[in-house]
Amino acid sequence: MRIRLQNKIFLTLILVGLGPLVFLGVLSVYSLNLFHQADLETIENNLLNQKGVEVTELLTRIEETFLLQVAFEQVADIELSQQIFLLEQFLKDLPALDEVAFISLSGRQTSAVDREFGLLPDAELQDYGQIEQFQTARSGRNFVSPVHFTLAGPAITLATPVRNRNGTVIAVLSGKMNLKDLGRILRASYLGQSGYVYALDTSGVLVGHSQPDRISGVGLDRPGRAIAARYQSFWGEPVVGSRKPVGRLGLTLVAEWPVSEADSVVSTVRDQLLMFSGIIFFIALVASVFLTFRIVRPIRMLARGTALVAEGKFDQPVNIKTGDEIEGLGAAFNDMLAGLKRLEELKEEFVFIAAHELRTPVTAIKGYLSMVMDGDAGPVSPEAREMIGQVIAANKRLTQLVEDLLQVARSEAGRLQIEVAAVEVSGPVAEVFRELAPLAAEKQISLVYEPEAQMPKIMADSQRLREVLVNLVGNAIKYTPSAGTVTITHTLAAHELVTHVSDTGFGISAEAQKRLFEKFYRVATKATAGITGTGLGLFIVKQIVEKMNGRIWVESEEGRGSTFSFSLKIV
Ligand code: ADP
Repeated sequence: MRIRLQNKIFLTLILVGLGPLVFLGVLSVYSLNLFHQADLETIENNLLNQKGVEVTELLTRIEETFLLQVAFEQVADIELSQQIFLLEQFLKDLPALDEVAFISLSGRQTSAVDREFGLLPDAELQDYGQIEQFQTARSGRNFVSPVHFTLAGPAITLATPVRNRNGTVIAVLSGKMNLKDLGRILRASYLGQSGYVYALDTSGVLVGHSQPDRISGVGLDRPGRAIAARYQSFWGEPVVGSRKPVGRLGLTLVAEWPVSEADSVVSTVRDQLLMFSGIIFFIALVASVFLTFRIVRPIRMLARGTALVAEGKFDQPVNIKTGDEIEGLGAAFNDMLAGLKRLEELKEEFVFIAAHELRTPVTAIKGYLSMVMDGDAGPVSPEAREMIGQVIAANKRLTQLVEDLLQVARSEAGRLQIEVAAVEVSGPVAEVFRELAPLAAEKQISLVYEPEAQMPKIMADSQRLREVLVNLVGNAIKYTPSAGTVTITHTLAAHELVTHVSDTGFGISAEAQKRLFEKFYRVATKATAGITGTGLGLFIVKQIVEKMNGRIWVESEEGRGSTFSFSLKIV
């Protein structure tokens, strides 16, 4: 398979030029995404860390205030009135405290105060004997529950042992703290325009959100720790989310950033990159086309020039101005052309001189031989007469060859003298018929002329026209077997008169017809085997006809005869 040079060069340029561009583009987009992902991780991680610290601080503060408050001087049970006084004091000191109660060592609440409802009546006091917060504090340790969601919002339960001066546990103090401050901490979170942070408790219940209208007691799933993962949020939006557990509170903080906003920077940069690549691609494309054209054009010119040389035309130099090696090649090609032309001229000159020089001796031989035949040199025996007859025939052929060669040399050197004038065709036709009548009679061939009723005058050189007719009619007689017919007819076209020379001869194969007008071409078939000739006649005829601004062509069928036609301009 042949691939055109222009396609090869173009593809190479595109590959070499645009390959790296595409590679770089893909690489940039890839690293951009990578860096962006790392950025998202950092941003969300930092936010979660900061919120984690704040929430932990909040709890520590609550714990410390509550748990440190409880240090009693008393040895035994605290009186009820004193209990109530203390409980109200706690509510006053700790704004986050919603409910506080003393529990006896047996596990029963002895007094309880609710911030909203005040002192609870005895009937509502409960038994805490089996409850963890009591049991932990009873055994001397502080208790902090995980965050959980109540109707009033997120809350934790705290319990601490109450000791006397000796350090013995004499009761348990228990309280319920609301975590309204958790909401405040979360609300003060910034993650772009639309990012948000929320907190889940141990069982996955949403206990705080930076956008308060989204808080509800719903249980959200709690997938494990994730950093800048992409998923569909609980609220049905594609997000980039990170989560982080916060210490012993059992809280999980989640930061989520809607993808549309989180990736908007990347999309902008990517779009710009694409546009930029598009522009470069276009420039590279135009440059490649231009460059390909520049490289291929002179090569095409050289190819055309070479084809002309193959046809034997040496007078069309190439004009390549690329200012590089190809221009040098073009110059070398033109030099070669000049050399070939010179060689051709030398050859033609040689043929011309040789043929010209041969003319004199050939004419001399002819003259002396006829004198010998005429008996000018004494009597000639019949045997000698026979031999001299052969020499005269051979000399005649030699004369024809010399004439033909001279004619060819003249036409090739542009020395073919043609002087056109208004000519009536029937005159030369009659002359040629008269001249060739003996030849035709020898083979019993009839010569027929069928002129048109109105014959227009044509532009021709009458001497050369005669040569053309002699050649064509001569050939027709030569290549037609005995008792045939050679006919000359005409057809009239708008500006031309066409003359047809038809015969009933051997005909010419389609293959041979193509080469008929070439120099030295002769058809070699059984029928033409014994017929002598030079193969120059039709070549000369064509040169002459074309010099007179006409055309010549042949129509023929093997075994059925041929028609040679030539057209000449009507006056
Ligand atoms: P020559 O006749 O000297 O061989 P031409 O150039 O006149 O050379 O003709 C070239 C060839 O064309 C001839 O050799 C012959 O084979 C063929 N030819 C020419 N005219 C005819 C014709 N009228 N019929 C058949 N063949 C022809």
